Amino acid sequence: MEVANELKAGAEAYIPEGYDPQLYKIRHSAAHVMAQAVVERFPGAKPTIGPPIEDRFYYDFDLPRSPNEEDLAWIEQRMKEIIKGRHPFEVREVSAGEARELFKDNPYKLELIEGLIQGGYDEYGNPLPDDEQPKITVYQHDTFVDLCRGPHVPHTGYIKHNGFKLLTIAGAYWRGDASKPQLTRIYGTAWRNRTQLDEYLERLELARQRDHRKLGRQLELFTFSNKVGPGLPLWLPKGTIMRETLVDFLKQEQLKRGYSPVITPHIGRLELWKTSGHYPYYKDSQFPPMALDDHEGHEEGYLLKPMNCPHHIQIYADKRRSYRELPVRLAEFGQVYRYEQTGELGGLTRVRGFTVDDAHIFCRPDQVKDEFKDAIDLALKVLGALSFEDYRVQLSLRDPNDKEKYTGEDAQWEQAEQAIREAADEMGLDAYEALGEAAFYGPKVDFMVRDALGREWQLGTVQLDYNLPERFDLTYIGSDDKRHRPAMIHRAPFGSLERFIGVLIEHCGGAFPAWLAPEQVRILPITDAQADYAHDVRARLFDAGLRVEVDARSEKVGYKIREAQLQKIPYMLIIGKREMENDAVAVRLRTEEDLGAMPVAEFLEMAKTAIEEKRDL
Ligand SMILES: [Zn+2]
Ligand SMILES: [Zn+2]
Repeated sequence: MEVANELKAGAEAYIPEGYDPQLYKIRHSAAHVMAQAVVERFPGAKPTIGPPIEDRFYYDFDLPRSPNEEDLAWIEQRMKEIIKGRHPFEVREVSAGEARELFKDNPYKLELIEGLIQGGYDEYGNPLPDDEQPKITVYQHDTFVDLCRGPHVPHTGYIKHNGFKLLTIAGAYWRGDASKPQLTRIYGTAWRNRTQLDEYLERLELARQRDHRKLGRQLELFTFSNKVGPGLPLWLPKGTIMRETLVDFLKQEQLKRGYSPVITPHIGRLELWKTSGHYPYYKDSQFPPMALDDHEGHEEGYLLKPMNCPHHIQIYADKRRSYRELPVRLAEFGQVYRYEQTGELGGLTRVRGFTVDDAHIFCRPDQVKDEFKDAIDLALKVLGALSFEDYRVQLSLRDPNDKEKYTGEDAQWEQAEQAIREAADEMGLDAYEALGEAAFYGPKVDFMVRDALGREWQLGTVQLDYNLPERFDLTYIGSDDKRHRPAMIHRAPFGSLERFIGVLIEHCGGAFPAWLAPEQVRILPITDAQADYAHDVRARLFDAGLRVEVDARSEKVGYKIREAQLQKIPYMLIIGKREMENDAVAVRLRTEEDLGAMPVAEFLEMAKTAIEEKRDL
């Protein structure tokens, strides 16, 4: 018994940092209870792995057939019965032989057991730190035994029968590997009580309505085609207008700040990527190289660019640079390609082709701090313009106890980290330091942004790099007439345009601020008699630079308003007989607020001010 208590106490260590321990145990236990119900429903079902994740849990099964709604309802009902049985979770350590015998009919568990025996892997098949050699333990409740290290609640009654819910069924590959068997993943969620569950389900519903994949279709912003390939977004006309507006905004800001725009091709010689270190080290996340004729027996070919840095480096290296012309700031909205696993693709937040609002700043060591300050300032300006007001600034620094992980000299790192700290300090930023989060080539500043639904995203980054200038032997001529090594800063205020727009769509629920809305104004004549006047107003607004359309269909105006509302168009101008006689428009906002009739010139003034000041409306 004492051994079991020790095992249970030790299991607490497996709760991830930042995860509420009680919720972790409830969800982990709910996953086991679900697995028992699934095995009862599907004789011969083979449970594989089932961990708690953020807000939820899942379990992957090899099933004789895919479950339907009816199965899910049955499983949920059966779980309630098991919960009411208050079955204790008992743990025991088993030998390798016992473990193999217990799970002899389940090849997945047998594979996990081999991983445990050889060491280096936990029971989810994840690699373990070198010094950790786990015991083989099993947890049992009622009739269900699982290969498991815990931790669990004391008995099934700790899971509330009205505090959990099964959510969805999805496909998943064994160990995330597309060449391995496809499994059925059942997701559920579990909370301390019904109130917490209801709150979570409400958040989920809101997120579902704001899902950028759904809104992207509804607002006709972007699409995907299987004929083009997964993860390769196609921007529709409306999405393109919005995207180009964002790009223009940043281009203007960059010009003011002394950036030089450049354009580079989408591919480069394999040699280039070997020098930069992107090949073969990141080979698995890249499209394979395009092989060319192999005349001399060495590997030759081209690679779709996973990064823009080496191309910009060649522009810097194109001529002799003097200390007087630094910093050189090269900016490009550069298309890059990465080979993400199919299972990870979904909407715009994970794609295989995307555009980085990239820039590389080559500067002297004494300029690093000021360049950092300016890059941070620009990133904050971008977030502010899009009403991301809730963010944290993370200073990602080196782990001082694990210096071998990083390139560069100690003194360089200390100087760089100090420069970043001072930059954040002088800007009055409430920044926090994250040790061990630096890139291997240098420290960075990351912007962690909370959206309207309270989810945190990493958008925008400023990174210092000592590695690439070294690898490409970049130099400038100092005032001493000697060659010196420049520092290099990578920065991208949006990060990836695709991902940023995906987050932005969900943040504002598709109701973009007026300056970004693909269609800013829609004119709605009440009858055909006002059609000519409507087109005349349209021409005037269009000439003043607004994006404006007329809905002249013979539909009821109420119907046209509802449609414009669904398209989240900021301003609707309703035109009847009286408006026409007075050279006026009746203004309705998408917030359903009615501003009444006003002269066309007055509306134009109002809309233009909102757009110039980047206000919502
Ligand atoms: Zn478990
Ligand atoms: Zn870069």
